Amino acid sequence: MFSRQELKRVWGSFPLRLSLWYAGAFTLSATLLCALLYLLLVSFYERSEREVISARLKECAAIYARGGLPALSELVHHGTDFTAGGGGFFVRVTGALGSVLLVAAPADWVERKTPDAAALLDPRAGRGGSRGLAPETAWLRIPRDERSDFMVASALLPDGAVLQVGRSTDRGATLLRPFLVAFGAALGPTLLLGLVGGAVFAHRATAPVRQVLHTARDIVATGNMEARVPETQAASELAELARQFNRVLDKNASLLRAMREALDNVAHDLRTPLTRLRVSAENALSSYAPPDPAAMREALSDCAEEAERVLTMLNAVLDVTGAQSGAMNLHRERVSARTLLSQALDVYSLAAEEKNIALQPLRTDADGDPCEAFIDPTRMRQVFANLLDNAIKYTPAGGRVEAGCARDADGALRVTVRDNGPGIPLAEQGRIWERLYRGDRSRSQRGLGLGLSLVKAIVEAHGGRAEVESQAGGGSVFTVTVPPTG
Ligand code: ADP
Repeated sequence: MFSRQELKRVWGSFPLRLSLWYAGAFTLSATLLCALLYLLLVSFYERSEREVISARLKECAAIYARGGLPALSELVHHGTDFTAGGGGFFVRVTGALGSVLLVAAPADWVERKTPDAAALLDPRAGRGGSRGLAPETAWLRIPRDERSDFMVASALLPDGAVLQVGRSTDRGATLLRPFLVAFGAALGPTLLLGLVGGAVFAHRATAPVRQVLHTARDIVATGNMEARVPETQAASELAELARQFNRVLDKNASLLRAMREALDNVAHDLRTPLTRLRVSAENALSSYAPPDPAAMREALSDCAEEAERVLTMLNAVLDVTGAQSGAMNLHRERVSARTLLSQALDVYSLAAEEKNIALQPLRTDADGDPCEAFIDPTRMRQVFANLLDNAIKYTPAGGRVEAGCARDADGALRVTVRDNGPGIPLAEQGRIWERLYRGDRSRSQRGLGLGLSLVKAIVEAHGGRAEVESQAGGGSVFTVTVPPTG
């Protein structure tokens, strides 16, 4: 009917196990509770039984004291329901010398099991005799069968005789048995109900987990990264798990998309310099016979330049990865940020000129301050270069790019790069710092989506922050702030 595999799966199912655990715990606690109740009932029954036997003992002792053996014999043999029926009493009077003077027993009494009266009370202890009608009692239980026994109270009478009154505890068993039967009968259906109900509820409650599992299997089997878990607005942890699982999938999908694009970009950007490198090398090898040292030198210099471009690109990728994983080593020294910035402006002046962009120091710049700071000059150069490169790249021909540095009231270094380019839509401003992110309208430009993430990683490694103020169509202002440390 069921294959071994299926049975294994059903047995391993989380809802089934959960309901079994629940049913087990429920049965255990119900049994413990009933056992406790049973013990209380037994002790309560015994106490009341002792009180009844004790009252009878006192009654017999009083009658014996008043009328002697004949009066007691009259009571036990003819008194109403004294020895009769299931609840009848056993009465025995044993003389001082050990002879039985009077005995009366109900039908269920097995007399031969009643021990010798003398053995029950030690007359030397002097109990009972002098106290007349309130004799002290010795209690004894005589086993009758597996479930019941007899309870016997013995007292020493003033004349040295021993009076014994007892009764079968079978009545107790009769009273307690229905309790056990009722408990046993109730436990079965309750357990079944708990098991089935528990399984149904556990199955329903764990539905989000199964959906997450199903979606994960689907993704693994088909590679379809678009699969998502159906979401509900419920406030439970499992509903939240499904929602968060979808968020993780969303993030992974966008990261994968970005990585694919970046890989395309890297491949595309590497192809040009590598092709040029190969062509230069091939030309140098084939076309100069006899070799022309000057042409060779030029070809080698072209090769070196192209190799340098490839290396820069690969380094950018590695830098960002390293910086974001916290592995960036800073070689800080006290340097003038203004000098670093003007060097970067010099480097980009040619590119700006080619694009007819006015590249100039910020007008509000406080020129006199060298803006000395305890920073890693190589890394900071990378920051300035990336910001200027972006500003020139995205600002259309005829535009303006300004850059400057200043010191904040708290001594922090503040470097600003401003352009009057296309600006950045508000929705994109939070994302431009992400690794591999490229603005929708920037795809036509060269780039890997790594520049600003590298800027952010370097600035944050310095304990500072990088920010942007921009609006679509209104230009952008990038600001880097580094605290005065060191
Ligand atoms: P890349 O320039 O290689 O695309 P970046 O990380 O340097 O990558 O920049 C991320 C995105 O931020 C760019 O794709 C672009 O959309 C936007 N951006 C950066 N600087 C500017 C700027 N000065 N003007 C307009 N958009 C910018």
